[in-house]
Amino acid sequence: MIKKYYLLSPGPTPVPENVLAAAAEPIIHHRTPEFSKIFMETTEALKYVFGTKEDVYILTSSGSGAMEAAVVNLLSPGDKVLTINAGKFGERWGSICKAYGIAHKEIVVEWGRDFTKEQLEAELKAEPGAKAVLCQLSETSTGAIFDIRGFGEVVSRTDAILVVDGISGTGATPCPMDEWKVDVLLSGSQKSFMIPPGLAYIAVGPKAWKLVETAKCPKFYFDLKKARKNLADKTTPWTPAVSLVIQQKKALDIIQGMGLEKLFDHHRILGDATRAGAKALGLELLSQRPGNILTAVRTPAGIEGGKIVKTMQGKYMAYIAGAQDPYKGKFFRIAHLGYMGGFDIITALSALEMTLADLGYKFEAGHGVRAAQAILKENWQ
Ligand SMILES: *Cc1c(COP(=O)(O)O)cnc(C)c1O
Repeated sequence: MIKKYYLLSPGPTPVPENVLAAAAEPIIHHRTPEFSKIFMETTEALKYVFGTKEDVYILTSSGSGAMEAAVVNLLSPGDKVLTINAGKFGERWGSICKAYGIAHKEIVVEWGRDFTKEQLEAELKAEPGAKAVLCQLSETSTGAIFDIRGFGEVVSRTDAILVVDGISGTGATPCPMDEWKVDVLLSGSQKSFMIPPGLAYIAVGPKAWKLVETAKCPKFYFDLKKARKNLADKTTPWTPAVSLVIQQKKALDIIQGMGLEKLFDHHRILGDATRAGAKALGLELLSQRPGNILTAVRTPAGIEGGKIVKTMQGKYMAYIAGAQDPYKGKFFRIAHLGYMGGFDIITALSALEMTLADLGYKFEAGHGVRAAQAILKENWQ
């Protein structure tokens, strides 16, 4: 068979054809009115997706660069913060804090379990003087989403700020920064923003800017004060990834053309279809509060965990994601974010059924696909 590649992972995600083609255009110089215009339009469109009147800074890095930018710009060595570790990316907050000597209290949540605003309130009471709460909108390692609106209510009543990693969630599930009292929201280009990896985005609210003024962590490349000063001149401190910014503008045109409400609805339909498909195969979901970004499905008993992902990728070239350490093999993840359509879900479930059959799992062939089709057909618009 022709080796056709199906990218079904929660980042990087597929890129629309006209956005891919934009990368082949001649490079324009970044200190020109021509680039400044595109750059400022991109910044404006990002504000729409973030739901904020604050500026959104475009950093040339993967998403983790924006996480590091948040820590070094907001905090000082010795500061106390709370990190919510409900998976691989929550754990990363702790690792970054550790690297900069921030005294973080790590709230460890079992992978796939929810963490409520009431629990957060109790943690904050037990930790007076905490400067920040660092968490995820969508924990991509498990597919769980968190009650950021509730966290915003709770944290805004304290002196702490709420820092939300929306790297996989922003643009796929609601998180209006200003309305939900999120002090810092950050994201990355290769998940729901429909372009290749390489850009990260960060917006900072007024309560958080006060911390930026006094933060003492060492920083140079990710200095947001430099970014703010340069943005006033419609530019960036360093050479931006010119082609990626141009691609992002094109992808944001698609996002704005559709409108966020419709886009969230689209992801909800894909999420519902995937979950229904998995359940119809007799499989169990991992997360207590699954988001519409990706679906984590438990490996059924009797099947060697790593084999599902290996077969789907190696034999069928359907690139779903496995589980990360320490849960390797225990579940697998089917993404439905970014530039994915209804038939991408059918492809994923079809490849999953063929894989499960190869591995000797007993189920009614076609039932997963059929359940997903029913939801897609009923909601197709
Ligand atoms: C992908 C992801 C990251 C890491 O982003 P990189 O672009 O790989 O640096 C961090 N947090 C979440 C929630 C993610 O989904």
